[in-house]
Amino acid sequence: MEFQVCERQWYTRAFAQDAVDKILRHKPEFLQGDNFLNYIYEEIANDTNERETLSFVQFTDLHLDLDYTTGASTTCDTVMCCRPENGFPEDPSIQAGEFGSVAFCDVPPSVLYKMGDKVNELAPDVLFWTGDVPPHDLWEYSYDHVKRYVGFLSEYMHANLNQWSIFPMEGNHDYGAMNSQDFSTPHPDPMITFQLEQWSDWLDEDAQKEYAVHGYYSQPLKTSDGTVFPKVRVVAVNTEACYNMNFYLMKLRDDPGDQLQWLEETLYKMEANGEIGILIGHVPPADASCLNQWATRYTALMDRFQHIIRLQFFGHVHMEMHNTIRGFNTNKPIGINFWAGAMTTYTFAYPSFRRFIVDKETMLPLKVETWKFDPEAENPEFFYDHEMTEYYGMTDLSPASFDALADRFLDDEDLSLVYLRTKSQNGKKKVESCDEDCRLEVYCQTRNGVYNDKLLCQNQDIHSWVHDPINTLMETTSDPWYASHKYPHFTQ
Ligand SMILES: [Zn+2]
Ligand SMILES: [Zn+2]
Repeated sequence: MEFQVCERQWYTRAFAQDAVDKILRHKPEFLQGDNFLNYIYEEIANDTNERETLSFVQFTDLHLDLDYTTGASTTCDTVMCCRPENGFPEDPSIQAGEFGSVAFCDVPPSVLYKMGDKVNELAPDVLFWTGDVPPHDLWEYSYDHVKRYVGFLSEYMHANLNQWSIFPMEGNHDYGAMNSQDFSTPHPDPMITFQLEQWSDWLDEDAQKEYAVHGYYSQPLKTSDGTVFPKVRVVAVNTEACYNMNFYLMKLRDDPGDQLQWLEETLYKMEANGEIGILIGHVPPADASCLNQWATRYTALMDRFQHIIRLQFFGHVHMEMHNTIRGFNTNKPIGINFWAGAMTTYTFAYPSFRRFIVDKETMLPLKVETWKFDPEAENPEFFYDHEMTEYYGMTDLSPASFDALADRFLDDEDLSLVYLRTKSQNGKKKVESCDEDCRLEVYCQTRNGVYNDKLLCQNQDIHSWVHDPINTLMETTSDPWYASHKYPHFTQ
């Protein structure tokens, strides 16, 4: 297939490396060592006074199923079960439970209500919601279907969680045409308009105006007691601009929705104002499903502004994971992406949410806790399961400590198994062993902020029609980018 744009001479290739060079051309001298966050962690460690902290709860990937029916079969031959059409078996071991089923099923509202109870008990300073509300009944997707689910959650949050400061961001399932947002239209996607109506309590006027255009925003951090932090900004990116199943991206080959340009401008303004930031999104940029052209430029911005963004977290993969971001020039670890586990049991995972204990002065995470739910327990409640530094024996959550952890994964099968099993909160698909290749994959995945770098780290081909046909197809049909008129011009 030949793209028409190739024949037009006024389009030129926009190479990611050129964009990276342009972004990093103005990197200040004091950041050249790529050690900024490590240095602040050292300062915190050397401080003999007790640090003031804030607590941030993040929940993600609820994938609520309003057709979930207790007693329906947990096994079926479609992509999701636990609905009346799957039948009502006599065998109790395959009957859907009242509080969800660790199977090919999404979750009933009872799991959301249990989460709400626990969140209210934990009384967070900030509550973050990072997208994916509807179930995996992909054939049902329409504007009304998705609206029903997003509306259900918003209504619940307004009635039960509105006493907390809330920062939302949508996921790829929160669109009428599943996964698909067309950034090229002059009118916003109808779901963006709908979300905005739901979120008007939570976003300030500037953020609402920004969000209305293409579904991304930034606004100063506000805590549940009403305190606004004028020097701390929440930056919420819309990862539909990189998600490889958003088919509109095949025709948007130059910064979809002008988001990278907006992000760069926002970070420059924050730098000029002496602000620091917390960045949230749905698809982790290091995941295979985030297109390389976008992920590379995003990571270059995180390199250039490594002193500004103090915490980054995402959802989408339904697995608890993490990765470091590396400096382009030094290959040193400069930041961390945290990937939260999902609220849904889909697939074969235990529901969970995250609580970050954050240093109030620097906004760096000091503890990252996982709160878990066992649908099969008697009178189940969300309970504290583990905290990262204790769980993995880390000195702190600095990028350097995550590199040390990656080194240990390489040599320690038991530790690698802990990581692999924790992905699903020790769900029902058990990983029994992790040989040398498996440990190399854990090492490479946790060390790299761009998926292609993970593959290169594993000595694998970037594109493989044999081993990874879907991602290869999506990458090759959405790549290269063409510098028609836009990004990056801001730093030129
Ligand atoms: Zn999801
Ligand atoms: Zn998702």
